[in-house]
Amino acid sequence: MSQALVEVKNLKKHFEIGNGVTLKAVDGVTFTINRGETLGLVGESGCGKSTLGRTMIRLYENTDGEVLFKGKNAHRLKGKEAEQFHRDVQMIFQDPQASLNPRMTVMDIIAEGLDIHGLSRGARADRVKELLELVGLSKEHANRFPHEFSGGQRQRIGIARALAVEPEFIIADEPISALDVSIQAQVVNLLEDLQQDRGLTYLFIAHDLSMVKHISTRIGVMYLGKMVEMANSFELYEKPLHPYTQALLSSIPIPDPTIKRERIILQGDLPSPANAPSGCVFRTRCPKAMEQCAAQVPEWQEAAPNHWVACHLYQ
Ligand code: SF4
Repeated sequence: MSQALVEVKNLKKHFEIGNGVTLKAVDGVTFTINRGETLGLVGESGCGKSTLGRTMIRLYENTDGEVLFKGKNAHRLKGKEAEQFHRDVQMIFQDPQASLNPRMTVMDIIAEGLDIHGLSRGARADRVKELLELVGLSKEHANRFPHEFSGGQRQRIGIARALAVEPEFIIADEPISALDVSIQAQVVNLLEDLQQDRGLTYLFIAHDLSMVKHISTRIGVMYLGKMVEMANSFELYEKPLHPYTQALLSSIPIPDPTIKRERIILQGDLPSPANAPSGCVFRTRCPKAMEQCAAQVPEWQEAAPNHWVACHLYQ
């Protein structure tokens, strides 16, 4: 049996934004996520990583391509199969403040997904209390409202809500970006513990490579709607191939002062996905751009075992 829980094949999500202009937020992305692994996904704001996550979970319909979940096309599921998909795949959002209804108690927020099971009042309350303890909160928190909690605690409530329906796959969309640095590690540790206990599979989205290093089995790097590189975490840090990944890594401070790494400063701003450069989308900022980069789109190919890259330097 295939290890892949999720297979994304040439997935596109385009938005028509008026005057005949198309914003290609996700433009032909292909990868798999294996059961029990964490795939980290990084790139600057506006690169399409959140749109990719939202399209995978069907918050957006796809423009083209497909997302297979356990071998079935997620965007074609209907009836009971669609309901099961919406339980099996859950999302944790960046801003726990905005994603929790301020007028609902923590009990009702977490129990929302449980209510279709028609549990008795007592069983519902017991399950919520169990979930609160699982995420490091206390059962006394159940009758409070979201504003009574810190950012880190609110994110724990969001995690408990996602876990309530016993998902297999969680898309965590910048779950620690809005938290204090001291709290970030606690939330990452919680997600790792839950993964160990429950065999969860994660897509962990972040804007910074340093945030995904410890939690990810593999890491994908996106730029302007395209996946430009994907490899296992160690290899991506030690032997980045794509000039964009090399630039992102060069900006992470190294704690060891004896190791010197040259900082690569990218020129210019991220172009609009409504007006992406021809050929390689990174060519307007790439320090290694060649003539061929403007004319030809680089293919997504396996440059070394399990190390994928889209760049003419390796073709
Ligand atoms: Fe740079 Fe060309 Fe590679 Fe694009 S294809 S990353 S422009 S060298």
